[in-house]
Amino acid sequence: AKKFVVAKHFQNEPKATDLQLVEEELPALQTGEFLVQAEYLSVDPYMRPYVLKYPLGITMIGAQVGKIIESKNSQYPVGKRIVGYLGWRTHTIVNPQTCTEVDLISQKPMLLPDIGNLSPSLCLGVLGMPGNTAYFGLLEICKPKQGETLVVSGAAGAVGSHVGQIGKHVLGLTVIGIAGSDEKCKWLVEELGFDHAINYKTENVAVSLRKAAPTGIDCYFDNVGGDISSAVMYQMKPFGRAAVCGSISSYNADASSLPKATILQPVLVFNQLKMEGFIVSRWTDRWSEGIQKNLQWIREGKLHYRETVTKGFENMFDAFVGMLQGKNTGKAIIQV
Ligand code: NDP
Repeated sequence: AKKFVVAKHFQNEPKATDLQLVEEELPALQTGEFLVQAEYLSVDPYMRPYVLKYPLGITMIGAQVGKIIESKNSQYPVGKRIVGYLGWRTHTIVNPQTCTEVDLISQKPMLLPDIGNLSPSLCLGVLGMPGNTAYFGLLEICKPKQGETLVVSGAAGAVGSHVGQIGKHVLGLTVIGIAGSDEKCKWLVEELGFDHAINYKTENVAVSLRKAAPTGIDCYFDNVGGDISSAVMYQMKPFGRAAVCGSISSYNADASSLPKATILQPVLVFNQLKMEGFIVSRWTDRWSEGIQKNLQWIREGKLHYRETVTKGFENMFDAFVGMLQGKNTGKAIIQV
């Protein structure tokens, strides 16, 4: 078995030497345990800030989809797949009664839902945590109404591409995406049906937004924070709602390199805006509702997805840094 352990806490952009790939010998299974072999692993932005909470030497945190290859637990038979926060490892002994090494999102390993002939890897993306983030974050925090205008940043990523499509094809909103390349913007408009897409690397976001939404913005789904988000907030309509999902523009910054803040209070006050942060685990008790809805929308052709797949467990670190740099479109996945 192989795993990545945290050898050094990340500072600024993660370095390959911050993680160490090690071999481990696993003990024999005890009653109630089962052995999972990873098939797909996820690299997600939260890993960058989140892992700093834990001591050095832990297994790098993260979710995976794996197959049960040995079992001493009749509820988890050999051949079934599970999705769970088992960390960056190829093989894991799981006891569903006790927590794994890092009890991250207070979610126990779960048997995969029935998704027909769709790829199991989707349970790390559109039919997993990012899909539920899009579903609950948009519906419960932005509370959009038909005909309103929605802006989503990080729009070509796992969460953002999903948010925009629910907005457009399920709720009937005008949807504007903000992303980091012309290819991504083209994909958003031509394949996913966004009304507009803005390349924040080549355009002035405030100017392009003013053109795309001349009467202002009702809902903002914020994946990135920083200057992009300040530009959006200053064009919100009275009583607009912003769901603060993530802040990836500052995840690699340490205290000394944090960008200067733009003061948002004037627009919040005078336009009576609502801005609310959330973590998707808030809806753990409604988890399967989100998965089932997203599955239904895929089957109805309302929701399309893309995965950027990196092959080989050893390449997880490169996939992780590549995702932070924007090399992914849709969900970044590692196939073992
Ligand atoms: P993505 O698939 O969107 O991948 C990250 C993307 O961020 C990159 O592809 C890149 O795209 C973009 N990015 C990187 N640096 C910057 C920057 N400086 N400014 C703007 N964009 C940048 O990841 P996810 O969909 O998994 O996550 C999106 C956001 O949602 C993250 O902030 C994450 O932390 C958050 N999240 C929050 C959850 C919650 O419960 N609150 C749960 C899950 C995710 P580009 O080419 O466009 O720059």
